[in-house]
Amino acid sequence: MAHSSTSSTPVVYITRKETFSASHRLLNRGLSLKENELLFGKCTNANGHGHNYKVKVTLRGKQDPTTSMVMHLGKLTEHLKSVIDPLDHKNLDLDIPYFKSVMSTTENVSVYVWNEMKKLLPTGLLYEVKVSSTEKNSFVYRGEMQDKQ
Ligand SMILES: [Zn+2]
Repeated sequence: MAHSSTSSTPVVYITRKETFSASHRLLNRGLSLKENELLFGKCTNANGHGHNYKVKVTLRGKQDPTTSMVMHLGKLTEHLKSVIDPLDHKNLDLDIPYFKSVMSTTENVSVYVWNEMKKLLPTGLLYEVKVSSTEKNSFVYRGEMQDKQ
């Protein structure tokens, strides 16, 4: 009979994964083409290249007393799709205003998804955004900030 306690409730992590495809180019506009080539290699090729991005969003929270869910997965999916569908089959650098001033590294794609998801979710629920641009690479953002120096 000791299954539930009135003073505490489980904290559960839930994750939804969705995918999108987009092209981009790594280019630091403050540097010469030669310097960009040294830094980014073929990722700075003038006509760009594409990725099939995988995006995993994890929420951390208490279960709702009525549904026993942290958030209905359908609702989370809806939010995630509303954030990444506008990126699908686009050129990130040319089509997405955020990436006109921010380089389209996968680090920054994860920060972008975090910022957009945060606007849609109840406060404190977003735990982690993980973006993969290839099978071997993944990038995690948890909203942490650090002084530049
Ligand atoms: Zn790339």
